[in-house]
Amino acid sequence: MKTFTTRRELAAALAVERRSGRSIGFVPTMGALHEGHVSLIEAARQADDVVVVSIFVNPLQFGPTEDFDRYPRDLAADRETATDAGAKYLFAPQVAEMYPNGATATRVQVGPIGETGEGRYRPGFFEGVATVCVKLFNIVGADRAYFGEKDAQQLAVIRQVVADLNLPVEIIGCPTVREPDGLAVSSRNAYLDPESRRAAPALARALRAAQRAAATGEDDPAALSALVADLLAGEPAVRLQYATVFDPVTFAEAPVVGRCGAILAAAAQVGSARLIDNVTLAAHPAAKRARPVVTQPVGHQPERGALVG
Ligand code: AMP
Repeated sequence: MKTFTTRRELAAALAVERRSGRSIGFVPTMGALHEGHVSLIEAARQADDVVVVSIFVNPLQFGPTEDFDRYPRDLAADRETATDAGAKYLFAPQVAEMYPNGATATRVQVGPIGETGEGRYRPGFFEGVATVCVKLFNIVGADRAYFGEKDAQQLAVIRQVVADLNLPVEIIGCPTVREPDGLAVSSRNAYLDPESRRAAPALARALRAAQRAAATGEDDPAALSALVADLLAGEPAVRLQYATVFDPVTFAEAPVVGRCGAILAAAAQVGSARLIDNVTLAAHPAAKRARPVVTQPVGHQPERGALVG
């Protein structure tokens, strides 16, 4: 695997690959590579001839009180992980290489999709993510880019940006990789002290319980949010920030669970780590059949906000 820190070197190497007719798969990351990242690299290897991994802790997506300075960085270990997983190129630019004039004046605005969920807690986050991803897509020129469903709203934002701006890259979503106890693997799990690490899987357990409730007939998003909050009330080390049902495409709050893959996403502070996780909800078909439409109050549209995948 070759490591490049400049756009120019990477572009030269990828031009040769492209001229040889090889497809390019791209896995953008912030480093501290783990099994989740490895699963994306492996998915890219399946579909593409050449895999490029980027490691860039993007200052534009961190708020002033967030963890930009202490975010885990270990390029030597990451090189080994990416090599073992089968990446051919690692792009690890410095901040000045990505933002030579300081932070760019040009930003990618994502609109309402970036204002719910994570956007409410992290103002400007999705604008920072969208801006750096468009830059990276232009630098790499990949055929496909691979993102984790772990960051479901980010994936939805990137899909929207690619569609709206006609970017010539196919976005592939990959399933969340979890620890044996259910905790979603994350670079930020490194912040968990032993007591927090013990408590942290409660978030995934609560989401799974809500997922089961939806599958057996609960289609009221407020009831599912309340269920997650109730379950986590028994684990005070996990301080829930939100647990909300979203339309998987627009990330608008969903009025009903529906039948097409609504996402229940949550964030919680656990010790000094802020963790996010989500599950896809598949409503029990009987849940809707049990409610004849004629009994709905006037003006109620059961399929409004239907979650089109
Ligand atoms: P990050 O380095 O945290 O910015 O993540 C880089 C990419 O890896 C994003 O597309 C994430 O969604 C994805 N990712 C992070 N954790 C996981 C996980 N546990 N399973 C699958 N993908 C993940």
